[in-house]
Formats: sequence, structure tokens, C-alpha cells
Amino acid sequence: MKDEITTVAALKEQVHQLCLRKGWGVNGVQNPQHVAMAMTVEMSELLEHFQWLNLDDVERLMQGGDPERKAMIAEEFADVMMYGLQLTRTLNIDIASEIERKIEIVDHRPPRRDNPKR
Ligand SMILES: [Mg+2]
Repeated sequence: MKDEITTVAALKEQVHQLCLRKGWGVNGVQNPQHVAMAMTVEMSELLEHFQWLNLDDVERLMQGGDPERKAMIAEEFADVMMYGLQLTRTLNIDIASEIERKIEIVDHRPPRRDNPKR
């Protein structure tokens, strides 16, 4: 599976099928409030892999010099995304459209005085 050829819709369906196989939720649909809370737990697990890194550590990670950490980060980010895909499926959110809409909003937002790059 590659990012370039996999649609968001296909990923939503794969996550839904996993929920059905596992018997999670009602007919594979979990309470979106619970899913949103679980996302924050997974986000914390993701952040643990960045905790206490110094700039050299981060640079090494970005250059591919810490494949074990990268694998753990990838796994936790997958957890975050899987909950996100569940959430958007349950609430019938077209996330591709929402991301494009958000990019448009941010693109036209005036720069902040304290950080002109934002
Ligand atoms: Mg996790």
C-alpha cells in the first residue's frame, strides 16, 4: 500500500472493516466522542517518542538515522489516523474537502506580528 495510490475512502473502509472484525462499537461504528478522546491518547503516545529529544536527535531522525524511533512514530501516527478516519466516516466528513478548505483559510490568514512566517 502506497500513499500515492490509496484513497482516503479506501482507508476509511479498511478501518471500518477492522472495527467490524473486532466487534468494536455498534455495527463497527464507535461513539465519536470516545474516538476523539482515544485520538488524544494516541497523540500522547506519539509525542512520547519526541520527548526530551535535543536538536541533534531531531536532525538525526529527520536524516533517517534513527529507524527504530521512526518506526514507533509511524505506528503511533497510524493509530491517530485510524481514529481520525473512523471519526470522519462516522460523522460523514469529507476530510479531503475539509483539508482543502482549511488550507484555503490558512493561506489567506494574515501573518501574525509575533511570527511573520505563520
Ligand atoms: Mg498507540
